[in-house]
Amino acid sequence: MAYETIIGMEVHAQVITASKMFCGCSADTSAPPNTHVCPVCLAMPGSLPVINEAAVRATIRTGLALHCEIPPHTKFDRKNYSYPDLAKGYQISQYDMPLCVDGWIDIPDGEDTKRLRIRRVHLEEDTGRLIHEGAHSLIDDNRSGMPLMEIVTEADLRSADDAWFYLTKLRAILRYLGVSSGNMEEGAMRCEANISIRPEGASTFGTRVEIKNMNSFRAVRQAIAYEIERQRALLECGEQVHQVTVGWDENRRRTVFQRSKEYANDYRYFPDPDLPPLQLERVMVEDMRRQLPELPDAKAERLAREYGVKGDDVALLVQERQIADFFEATVKAAQGLEPQVVANWMVGELFRLLSEQEVADGEIPITPQQLADLLMLLHKGAINAAAAKEVLAELFHRGGSAEEIIRRRGLRQISSESDLAAVVAQVLAENPQPVADYLQGKGAALGFLMGQVMKATRGQANPQVARQLLMESLEGRRHDTEE
Ligand SMILES: [Zn+2]
Repeated sequence: MAYETIIGMEVHAQVITASKMFCGCSADTSAPPNTHVCPVCLAMPGSLPVINEAAVRATIRTGLALHCEIPPHTKFDRKNYSYPDLAKGYQISQYDMPLCVDGWIDIPDGEDTKRLRIRRVHLEEDTGRLIHEGAHSLIDDNRSGMPLMEIVTEADLRSADDAWFYLTKLRAILRYLGVSSGNMEEGAMRCEANISIRPEGASTFGTRVEIKNMNSFRAVRQAIAYEIERQRALLECGEQVHQVTVGWDENRRRTVFQRSKEYANDYRYFPDPDLPPLQLERVMVEDMRRQLPELPDAKAERLAREYGVKGDDVALLVQERQIADFFEATVKAAQGLEPQVVANWMVGELFRLLSEQEVADGEIPITPQQLADLLMLLHKGAINAAAAKEVLAELFHRGGSAEEIIRRRGLRQISSESDLAAVVAQVLAENPQPVADYLQGKGAALGFLMGQVMKATRGQANPQVARQLLMESLEGRRHDTEE
């Protein structure tokens, strides 16, 4: 039987602020454990929380970027539960009046795009962090009370790929806004997926399973794909799917049972009596809307229109704002050069170097001017493409200027016909067999002879000129033999 997969996503993103959500403790995540704690974030009797305005603004900006409505009234609620990482016994969150509701986000869907509805974006405080070491568990309360956004979609996703595209797009938006690092490996962005399957065409939903503990984009894709297959196998044997929470086991590559699912009324939500409800003035919200930066979709559309860069390349260039900015700055610095050439070198060689180097996301160790200078030298024929790759790698690892590296390493391209003609003649004289092969119609021999010319010039021959000379000499010999 054919089944349809239904997925809803919940993403928690740490909000970048100077202080915690309801107290003055520093929100620096690199501090030694339990050094940033106070009576408020530990909820000591008599302590009173105060709402962090910067976190509220960051959440509203996120909601606006996700095309949400910002209701005029909002409030904070206590979500009561007992867990070792929650010394307070409750978490301040938002229940029925979140900051942002009813938005959407577009993700790629083949050649087209698909619109996913965003149900809500709300603001809450993070819990402490548990560290398990052997038989002991340690707790770091620095994270307790840190501002955390929760972004919830409607059940509009249909596959593991949808989930991957959604998270990629969402993270890009959070980073463009500067509201969260979106780093999943560091736990700054955590995601849960609710998955159910149903026979194709059915109008009711199947029983859903919640997956937690997915610590990378890759894990999300694998965990969802695994869970879809697990549920399908159960249904096909006539068994039931139970409503439970499972965790993704990265080592065993499977989901494992964690606990039976809790329901909203298990938490006994009630408005936090220590915090005032907030009224969000329209003037302020509209002001924030006007001040949003250019977001990934708008930037992609503009780069394609203004610079004529290919769609696939644009999609890669806009994933990080710094990368897109670097592209535009390089195009401006490289007067007269086709923007697509800059895009090709960035998406190809520069991305390869970045992925090998493991630099921080969005960080680039060279300047747009350095790349522009290099590409101009290539364009003018001073070096060939192979040499340009070498120079780029050295600029990337050790810095300097393209001109100086080319001079020091003797990479300047040999384009002079007279210089190259001598090399070609020598290569032909030293390789009679490949020459004979070529003349007998074995085209592959030309590649070998080209390789010999490049070798003899230590890679500096202008490939177009060398190939031309080689062909002319060989064709000349063909006539000689035919006569
Ligand atoms: Zn505190």
